[in-house]
Amino acid sequence: MKTVAVLGGGPAGASAAERLADAGLRTILFDEKLAWEKPCGGGLTYKAYTEYPYLLNNDTPKRLVHETVIGAHKAGDAKLTLDHPLVIYSRLELNRMLLERAEKAGAEIEKTRVMNIEQRENGWRLETKNGVAEADFLIVATGARNPLRTVGTEYKAADTMSALGYYVPAEQDRIDIQFLENLEGYIWVFPRSGHLSVGICGKGESAQALRLRLEAYMDERGIPRKDAKFYSHMLPSLESAGWKGNRVAGRGWLAVGDAGGLVDPITGEGLFYAIRSGDLASRVVLNDAHALADKAAVYRAAIAHEFAADLEFAAMLAKRVFLGKFLFRTVPQRMVHFMQRSPRFRELMQDLFAGTQPYSSLRNRLLRNLNGTLQEVIMQFFLDHVLPQNSRATP
Ligand SMILES: Cc1cc2nc3c(=O)[nH]c(=O)nc-3n(C[C@H](O)[C@H](O)[C@H](O)COP(=O)(O)OP(=O)(O)OC[C@H]3O[C@@H](n4cnc5c(N)ncnc54)[C@H](O)[C@@H]3O)c2cc1C
Repeated sequence: MKTVAVLGGGPAGASAAERLADAGLRTILFDEKLAWEKPCGGGLTYKAYTEYPYLLNNDTPKRLVHETVIGAHKAGDAKLTLDHPLVIYSRLELNRMLLERAEKAGAEIEKTRVMNIEQRENGWRLETKNGVAEADFLIVATGARNPLRTVGTEYKAADTMSALGYYVPAEQDRIDIQFLENLEGYIWVFPRSGHLSVGICGKGESAQALRLRLEAYMDERGIPRKDAKFYSHMLPSLESAGWKGNRVAGRGWLAVGDAGGLVDPITGEGLFYAIRSGDLASRVVLNDAHALADKAAVYRAAIAHEFAADLEFAAMLAKRVFLGKFLFRTVPQRMVHFMQRSPRFRELMQDLFAGTQPYSSLRNRLLRNLNGTLQEVIMQFFLDHVLPQNSRATP
């Protein structure tokens, strides 16, 4: 293999290109926009920056956020201190940093749109706005709105969420997360350097309806929309059936990041999976032990083993998390109640925020802690309602 073309220069494409070029392979990355403010919260979990420390250790502007407040309809809210902060970037800055790393590693970077791809017996012919290019292998990193019809995830409506919001010129130190009545999705307020990213994602509801819900929330919280810039995009959220037939790789190509549907269907976290899949794809390309015809299967197995099997499992939980009922209340309401009262449950939520608690072992952890958590909840309820502050004996 002499030349690899990376189609798309977001976090997935830039990460793959950096590693391929670093290993000495001729790597050409095509992106029609290069660094841009892709609609996104921009939040990176502890899992992401411990695996890739350069995401933390750099001069690029970012915010480290140590506190989040989680609220649910008619349940109030609960504060969570994050031992491992969430790192929040503007996407313009993050994309620029990752593209610069790829360029420094030796990738050739071309600002152009890939219009068409055609597979030949021994490689690919690409038509771009600038002309024609050839490559032996493709990394498809064109994001959720991949315009190339023959490669990458074939999204059905059920496999996506609408996501939209505003960049608000304001400051705050904490993250807010709000669950809403009858919505498979949530609202977020992410503080970034110099502005807030305030957004909503949801499945099964029109973008217009989501926008109304978000604007009502902003009005209620006094978050101004004057001078705020509106954004919207598609957020992958594959259902179980979507994962089963997911077209993530084929002969001569591997899809990474959103182009392969690699996003947490509950939280919408995609940045880590974009960077990680770019990394894994580059390793599969570079490994001479696999014949070209085997690379798709090897890559599928690698991502399944690392995270895709867990995300597929999360797809089964998603509806229950947002819309399910537990002890006569919705699951988000109970989550807030438990967080208000149980340190053990708060610890679990911390790990979910850090990205260190896989969905596959969540049930066992909950069961293991159930006794202690319920005791804590009942004890706190007793203190709040039976023995209010001024009636407790002072030591
Ligand atoms: C509103 C919203 C909020 C989100 N918040 C978070 C968050 O806080 N944390 C998190 O982890 N994830 C978040 N995500 C998910 C995250 O944004 C994506 O998972 C991530 O951007 C995927 O990276 P990518 O490189 O695969 O794709 P992208 O970032 O979409 O990059 C694709 C690139 O391909 C280029 N491209 C596309 N087609 C062509 C073409 N034909 N020719 C040339 N170039 C092309 C585009 O210009 C683009 O630069 C959010 C998503 C949305 C929509």
